[in-house]
Parts: sequence; structure tokens; C-alpha cells
Amino acid sequence: MEYIRENGRQIPVAYCAQVGIAGGGPAGAMAAIAAGRAGARTLLIERANCAGGIWTSGLFSWMLDVTNKGGLLRELMERIRDKGEGDFGRAGNFLTFPETLKRELDDMLLDAGVNILYHTQVAGAVRDGRRLTHALMESKAGRQAAAGDVFIDATGDGDLSALAGCRFSIGNDAGVTQPASLIAIVTGIRAEDMRRFNSALTYENGQNAKTLLLAEMARAGFTPSYKLPCLMHVRGDVWLMMTTHSYGIDPLDPASLTEKTIEARRELYRQEQALRALGGVWRDMRIVATAPCIGIREGRRILGKYTVTAEDALAGRAHEDAVCRVQYPLDVHPLEAGRSAETELKGLKSKPFDIPLRALESADIDNLLLAGRLISGDFYAHSSYRVTGDAATIGEAAGACAARRAAPQVPR
Ligand SMILES: Cc1cc2nc3c(=O)[nH]c(=O)nc-3n(C[C@H](O)[C@H](O)[C@H](O)COP(=O)(O)OP(=O)(O)OC[C@H]3O[C@@H](n4cnc5c(N)ncnc54)[C@H](O)[C@@H]3O)c2cc1C
Repeated sequence: MEYIRENGRQIPVAYCAQVGIAGGGPAGAMAAIAAGRAGARTLLIERANCAGGIWTSGLFSWMLDVTNKGGLLRELMERIRDKGEGDFGRAGNFLTFPETLKRELDDMLLDAGVNILYHTQVAGAVRDGRRLTHALMESKAGRQAAAGDVFIDATGDGDLSALAGCRFSIGNDAGVTQPASLIAIVTGIRAEDMRRFNSALTYENGQNAKTLLLAEMARAGFTPSYKLPCLMHVRGDVWLMMTTHSYGIDPLDPASLTEKTIEARRELYRQEQALRALGGVWRDMRIVATAPCIGIREGRRILGKYTVTAEDALAGRAHEDAVCRVQYPLDVHPLEAGRSAETELKGLKSKPFDIPLRALESADIDNLLLAGRLISGDFYAHSSYRVTGDAATIGEAAGACAARRAAPQVPR
């Protein structure tokens, strides 16, 4: 590859935080609210125009592994349920509108005194030995720096840590990651006609709504790339649809992300046309939006002081410094077309297991905490704790810990 040299330039230190958080998904948003409520001067840097990550930019606002979770996540779910904009569904999971989450997270972040910076991507890091001194950001304002006492990487893919030179792993032993999925919001189908296809509800007569939808799609003349396609009814005639699998995607390569997004969007439109052509309950079905961001299940896993392993999950290991108890099973989506989740897991079954604080502490940088799906774990353990009930709970713990570790505020 050819290289050019960029001229050295002066970067303005535009922000100075006690706790600087990169990424505002379920983990980063909860980290920011926790740090803000603990009184730390908190900066949240998010590349999208909203917090929430997969819940909002990914359009998949179905929260798994929430039944044993309290704290900020419970508060968030209860405020939404009290407004009649979401509820607990199959197996106690929580479903709401992506838009509701945007609004509630904005409110909770602002009420906690968090300085929110949307439309801003973390694009570099400055280190002084084992300390991270600045996150570098790119936005319409150009390149800027944010100084911080403690940083939290909650970018999902571990961008801040990798930019700071931290060690990480990605994918399975061969470096293969789980497929991505592009989610759509669908309207024009009625809840009362579609009970049997609604994955948000307890399955009727033990019949799996996903298998029934797959058969319906076969009747419409196609097989979706995701063999466990799901439709989830939120409210009114608003549904979330997850029916694509993008195999072989490289979550760190914009060319791959672009190609797979276009491919998935085309597949979604083909699915919509085929289902509508069935007529009957499908005759008015419409995709009204596809997600601004393709849903990435797996990116980098950053090396921490402790690495959560498959053995921990199988043994149901507990820790004295636990910050989250994961109840969700191991869940590796097929790594290639034609394979199944069962083949990937080879019969492995986890028991509820703990995430220790040490898995949130970077092994390479002393003032860097990890939150969400990028924490220190192996391929199989990650497939379980990646879900949002756990990511959010881990995020809250990281935020509270960062606030405790930050230098006290100097009175102005
Ligand atoms: C298709 C799909 C379906 C899923 N289904 C479910 C489900 O049904 N229920 C469930 O609970 N979980 C589900 N998951 C798992 C879950 O969504 C994720 O593992 C979870 O979102 C992890 O939270 P996070 O905050 O770590 O990461 P993310 O949600 O990925 O959030 C990361 C945030 O960081 C931001 N960001 C990234 N890079 C930068 C940067 N350089 N600078 C600034 N900001 C940055 C992103 O914009 C994003 O907002 C699903 C995941 C996918 C992909």
C-alpha cells in the first residue's frame, strides 16, 4: 500500500472531563448517567445523533437478559413502561420503540449533568506511558481533543482502546466473527392477524414464531439469509424485523460495512415485495425505515486484567468483584451460510456467571475502563454477555467506578 505523511498539526483541547466516555450505546449511555449522577464532570462522545447504539441507531429495541437486573436499566424500563411505550414480553425481555429510547436516554443523560457530544467520532488517542491523556475526535469542528482523568471505552468495537495501542482479540480462533444483521421497521400488518409470527410474545402452543415466519417466507418463494427470522410487534402497527445475516463482514472495514449494508438492504426489499405479493395479512406490509447502522454483533474484545472465558460460563463462576450476573445462554449465530447456531455451539450450555470488575480494567492502560460487548472475554463468553441487559449493567458499573477513580473536582 502507498502511504502519505500528514503534516503535524495543533489540536485544540476543546473539552476537559473527569470521566470521558467513547460510545453511547447501552453500555456507554449507562456509564455516562452513572458517572454524571456520582458528580463527575462527564463527557459522552458518540458518532451517531443519539445514544442507545443497537437500541436506536440499530433499530433493535428488544432488551434481553433484564429479569435479574436493577439499577439504571430497570429505571429506564420502568419509566418507559409507565408512559405506556414499552413492556415486558416473552421470557421477561423488554420491548419498546427505538425513538422512545432516544428521548429517554437524552433526558436521563441531561438530568445527570452529562456533557453530550453527538456527531463526533473518536479517531485517536494520546498516551503518556500507561495513562491515556486525551481522546482525539473528528467532527464538523475538525479534529479536537478531550482531556480526561479516566476514560471508558464503550464503542462496541473497542476503537478507543485499539487507537491507544491496547491488546485485543477478535472473532473465533480463526478470526471469524458472528454475522451482522440490518434491522427494519415495518408497518401495515395487524397484531391480531399476526399473533403466530410475533416473536415478542410467548410462543402459542409451543410453536416457535421464527420457524413459522421462515415457513411463511418459503411460501412467498424465498429463504432469508437469517434462518431464524423474527418480527416483533411494538405497538399499534409498528414492528421490528430482523431477517438478514451478513456473513463474512469485517466490522472494522468501511468498504466491507458498505457492501454488506447494501446487500442486506436489497435483501430486505426483496423480502418485503415477496411477502406483500402473498396478499392477505401481508398485502399492506411496508418497510418504513432500515437502520442507519448495520447491527454488529462482534468487534474487538479488549484485553483486561481478567478474561471471562467459556469455562467460566459453563461452570457458572462467581467472583467477589462481580459487577454483573449474566443469565443469557451462549448464543453464537452461524458463522457461515448453511450452518446453524447448534453446530457453532457444539452442545455447550452455560450457567449464570459473573462478570468481574477486573474484566472491565484494561491490562495496558491504568486509567481506561471497558464497558459493553468489548470487555475482556473469549469468543464464547462474549456470545452470552454481549446482550443489552448485560452490556447496560456493565456500563453502569464502569461509570460508577470511573467516577470514584477520577481526580476530585477543583473548585473554580
Ligand atoms: C443485529 C443484532 C441483534 C441483536 N439483538 C439483540 C437483542 O435482541 N437483545 C439484546 O439485548 N441484545 C441484542 N444484540 C446484542 C447487543 O445489541 C449488543 O451486543 C449491545 O448493543 C452491546 O452494547 P454496547 O453499548 O457495548 O455496544 P453498541 O450497542 O454497539 O454501542 C456502541 C456505540 O458506540 C458508538 N461508537 C462506535 N464507535 C465509535 C467511535 N469511534 N466514536 C464514537 N462513537 C462510537 C456507536 O455509534 C454506538 O452508539 C444484538 C446485536 C445485534 C448486532
